[in-house]
Amino acid sequence: MSAKVVLRRCVACRQLLDREQLWRVIRLAEGGVVLDQGQGRSAYLCPTAACLDDARRHKRLQRALRGQVADSILKRLESRLSGNADACTEAR
Ligand SMILES: [Zn+2]
Repeated sequence: MSAKVVLRRCVACRQLLDREQLWRVIRLAEGGVVLDQGQGRSAYLCPTAACLDDARRHKRLQRALRGQVADSILKRLESRLSGNADACTEAR
């Protein structure tokens, strides 16, 4: 078994990490921006509140992709974060 680790750089903190651990945002060749799957220019982001916040504040995804990134994309990433947090708060 040879697991191939592909490193990608987070657009916010600039760390190199295993691609499997990062969120992928893709600007499709035909237009539009999607998450996870697609052909086109890609930007990577750590799945953390810190990096998401930094990316949003400094428009890092927009710069990396050289295009618009809809707020709904950032909201979807945010909901993935809070998905974990909700599990904690609901348990109270
Ligand atoms: Zn990061």
